[in-house]
Amino acid sequence: MSDVLARLVAELEAGTIRVVDLTQPLGPDTVVIDLPPMFAPSNGVTIEQISRYDEAGPGWYWNNLSFGEHTGTHFDAPRHWITGREEEAGTTDTIPVRRFVGPACVIDIEAQVEVDADFLLTPEQLELWEETHGRVPGDAWVLLRTGWSRRSGKEAFLNVGEDGPHSPGFHPDTSYMLAHDRGVLGVGVETVGTDAGQAGAFEPPFPNHAVMHGAGKFGLASLCNLDQLPATGAVVIAAPLKIVDGSGSPLRVIALAPA
Ligand code: MN
Repeated sequence: MSDVLARLVAELEAGTIRVVDLTQPLGPDTVVIDLPPMFAPSNGVTIEQISRYDEAGPGWYWNNLSFGEHTGTHFDAPRHWITGREEEAGTTDTIPVRRFVGPACVIDIEAQVEVDADFLLTPEQLELWEETHGRVPGDAWVLLRTGWSRRSGKEAFLNVGEDGPHSPGFHPDTSYMLAHDRGVLGVGVETVGTDAGQAGAFEPPFPNHAVMHGAGKFGLASLCNLDQLPATGAVVIAAPLKIVDGSGSPLRVIALAPA
């Protein structure tokens, strides 16, 4: 029998393992992605009170919620994208729960993003990271630390110019390398989606979505607190709501990290 879980509990109690919240608050102020006007938009968050210790429910407080599956800190399932439409176990209710847990590789490109909002992580830069931190293991979450989560408000977070949004992401070759050569669980980003802001004009369009979901991999968007994680050594737990035939879902993403 494994004593790892007993040690985990003891270390959580002792504070030598921290639980880090990688999740943005979900509410009416949550910024939703803007698509070009020919595409249908996703609704923002609506929270409608049912009762709050009043005549509608004297002893209880509860709300009705409404939002798109891809809102705030959220999970992208493989069938979110047309390339993943045939993926078995490709929806939020069919993915084996084992695949929601994995080691985190945190790649810090904050300095590069500060001078270039459109910065893309290239395969060469990924290999450089691996020279220091070791090869990205199979079934890992690869998290792109860009500092973007410190931007508040729609304008700064979406950063839309006349030529569309500007935000960092993965070079298409890097997405391919992570999905096929490294065999990751998926990638996570601080931005509104897992593709760079300008990726609609890439070939193929939105290559990170196309490549990752076509390979049965996942995405995590609008993460925060990645600066509280080590480059390696943390474990991420990212379990979406079990929405029937869901393409994704808002979720609470937490990491277990050494103190
Ligand atoms: Mn999404």
